[in-house]
Amino acid sequence: MSSSTHLHFNSHLGAQKPRTIARQKPNPAQKNDTSCPFCNRESLVDILASEGPLVLLKNKYPVLEDTLQLVLIETYNCDEELSIYSKEHLHHVIRFGVEKWLEIENSGEFSSVIFFKNHGPFSGGTIFHPHMQIVGLKKVDYRENIREEDFEGVVITQAPGVEFNLSTKPRVGFFEFNVVLSDINQIDQMADYIQTAVHYVLNYFDYHCNSYNLFFYKLEEKIIAKIMPRFVTSPIYLGFSIPQVSNRIAEMARDVRERYFTEGTPSPNTPV
Ligand SMILES: [Zn+2]
Repeated sequence: MSSSTHLHFNSHLGAQKPRTIARQKPNPAQKNDTSCPFCNRESLVDILASEGPLVLLKNKYPVLEDTLQLVLIETYNCDEELSIYSKEHLHHVIRFGVEKWLEIENSGEFSSVIFFKNHGPFSGGTIFHPHMQIVGLKKVDYRENIREEDFEGVVITQAPGVEFNLSTKPRVGFFEFNVVLSDINQIDQMADYIQTAVHYVLNYFDYHCNSYNLFFYKLEEKIIAKIMPRFVTSPIYLGFSIPQVSNRIAEMARDVRERYFTEGTPSPNTPV
């Protein structure tokens, strides 16, 4: 398969996309507002698979050339968020997403397949409603830009087959959480650590943070999730590709451990 460094973006199609990301909290007065394309289920087309609230369908605005762009809708309603999902729903979402992502990768039709989630105004997303994206890339292999050290870090906690850490060499900076799964049977534990990271970012981060990305990587036999809090991106990274790491990562790792993994602390989806 031919290999490229750049994806080609169709800006004409991009200009037609609906944008609801600016909405921070759903307005109860707009409960039946059908302006969100993912709430309006009857209008969905090109559905490839569904299980209860989960729907995998083709992206209506496939702006990336030489790709297959899919959307995974996670919930019936806009007013839910991964950090407060019940454990049952959380596990369902992550299992379903990973299964479909790997199915597409195993089809052999793509150079590589990327799987990720945007949340909030600084995440690069356009739709507020909880969803993820799976994109098969015909000409680009994302693994060429990935290094093992991207996922090394100060260990927050671990369980058999899963490690939860805070990057010592972030890809961008300053704080990046990683969940490294080496035993697929422990995928529910991976989902729990992802939820903890997202909950921490949205509730306890030093600076008010309302945006994050969740990225998935398949590296040999490992599945890795990176949770990246999003702010305006550092110019030092944008202009010079120099990532930055905070001198507070050990302190933050300890804070996460104390809040979530000390005996008697509430689970992330318990209202605080
Ligand atoms: Zn919606």
